[in-house]
Amino acid sequence: VIEIRNLHKSYGPLEVLKGVSVTARRGDVVSLIGSSGSGKSTLLRCCNLLEDSQQGEILFKGEPVRWSGQGAARRPADPKQVLRIRTTLSMVFQQFNLWAHMTILQNVMEAPLTVLGRPRDEVEAAARGYLDKVGIGDKADAWPGQLSGGQQQRAAIARALCMEPEALLFDEPTSALDPELEQEVVRVIRDLAEEGRTMILVTHDMKMARDVSDQVIFLHQGLIEEEGAPDRLFDAPQSARLQGFLRSTM
Ligand code: ATP
Ligand code: MG
Repeated sequence: VIEIRNLHKSYGPLEVLKGVSVTARRGDVVSLIGSSGSGKSTLLRCCNLLEDSQQGEILFKGEPVRWSGQGAARRPADPKQVLRIRTTLSMVFQQFNLWAHMTILQNVMEAPLTVLGRPRDEVEAAARGYLDKVGIGDKADAWPGQLSGGQQQRAAIARALCMEPEALLFDEPTSALDPELEQEVVRVIRDLAEEGRTMILVTHDMKMARDVSDQVIFLHQGLIEEEGAPDRLFDAPQSARLQGFLRSTM
């Protein structure tokens, strides 16, 4: 579904991604791990074109993003293509980013109504279904501020699902949560993995990465230092940097 080839991205003089390639096939869960500043969030934001990149290709379902300009001046050429890609990838952030002035149900319904223009009764039925699925069907009429962090994050996941995306992008979905609330979000992510959703997941939670991933990628200073199946990567890390990183997180 998503293919990234040799991507380079700089913020001014700072090169943050130095030629990274990632492929997520349909049904794959790919986890990105690595120390703070290694470029994980940047890579995720480049995936859905929230960030520009200066070199390399990004493909969705085999369709390459078209660019105009080169290097620092490179931008996506076609705003329609950007919108289409963004609406087929849903992102879930560390800070759930729910709209405080809307109920949970309204939060989940907003984008399918306004961005996709789908009929209200159909969207409401789908939204209630996804809230049930993540275990907070009884919170539909509550305000975000009335929910625990774990419930808010599950609402954010229901909101992402309600866009019927081709793939989900998660940026540290459990990092802002207390350990006991974390587990309820991990459970939802594991369910999504089991039902064959395509996901790219940035996480500090090595246990979750191991549990849910088909492939784990260890980024170090903007380059892939090591990648592989989770059992192999966690049980027999080859690079000294990954060994050190795993020691520091276990
Ligand atoms: P963390 O685990 O702390 O979230 P990360 O791996 O997600 O780290 P990124 O957020 O991708 O790291 O940042 C990679 C590098 O890019 C860092 O050195 C960061 O300071 C820099 N960076 C990120 N966003 C910007 C920005 N908007 N402007 C300038 N530099 C940035
Ligand atoms: Mg980050």
